[in-house]
Amino acid sequence: GAVTRKPIIAGNWKMNLNHFEAILLVRKLAANLTAEHLAAVETVVLPPFTDLRSVEGAIKDDKLNIGYGAQDISKFASGAYTGEISGSMIAKLGATYVVVGHSERREYHAEDDATVNAKNKAAFEAGLTPIFCVGEGLAIREAGNQVEHVLAQIDAGLDGLKTEQLKQIVIAYEPVWAIGTGKTATPEDAQEVCGAIRGRLTEKFGTEVSDVVRIQYGGSVKANNIAQIMAKPDVDGALVGGAALDAEGFAAIVRFP
Ligand code: PGA
Repeated sequence: GAVTRKPIIAGNWKMNLNHFEAILLVRKLAANLTAEHLAAVETVVLPPFTDLRSVEGAIKDDKLNIGYGAQDISKFASGAYTGEISGSMIAKLGATYVVVGHSERREYHAEDDATVNAKNKAAFEAGLTPIFCVGEGLAIREAGNQVEHVLAQIDAGLDGLKTEQLKQIVIAYEPVWAIGTGKTATPEDAQEVCGAIRGRLTEKFGTEVSDVVRIQYGGSVKANNIAQIMAKPDVDGALVGGAALDAEGFAAIVRFP
């Protein structure tokens, strides 16, 4: 029979919202979602580090079925790394997810595949689940090399992870040219790469892993395009940027089914 993977919609707030605004957004989001919506779709918010404590409070005080996580993690466990935030610090705030290898980290902070791999490992070390991001830039897409490029990122990013970790990881396919541009990939474009990722997982790790790993699409996801993207067999969720800053808009995305 068909494998069922629970959809996961995550809102990446990027460098937006202070901790007061964060609490407000979480409360508004909760007001727009019923327990049934939140049971059907795993819903996650990914605020800046400085908001995590407040988001933890807002979610726990109201016993909301909303997950949360950080947008980055240090590859180091602790010590003299000024400005870095460790996985154990993030986990201590009750967070369960962390974004790893977002294209903005790769582009503006020179994160290469080896760093991204180290961060995936650091996340698991701290008991966090990585939302591991991959995706091609416009030049690679125009040359038709998106699948090859993304699979190389997948191979490098997952290198050395254990089976139990692989089964837990969330992969986000985000074509860089679709991020924040309003240019959404077509559902067929998303399926092509997400399907290739799943194929690679089957090849390397077997269906034990590939059947359960959730693969998100990201890049200009909105309430009006989520359903058609989610209809594709290898797309199990979405990583949402801009549209996650509006409580009603993000709730409408979560309510896609
Ligand atoms: P966007 O961002 O939804 O604003 O395109 C997606 C992301 O970068 O995760």
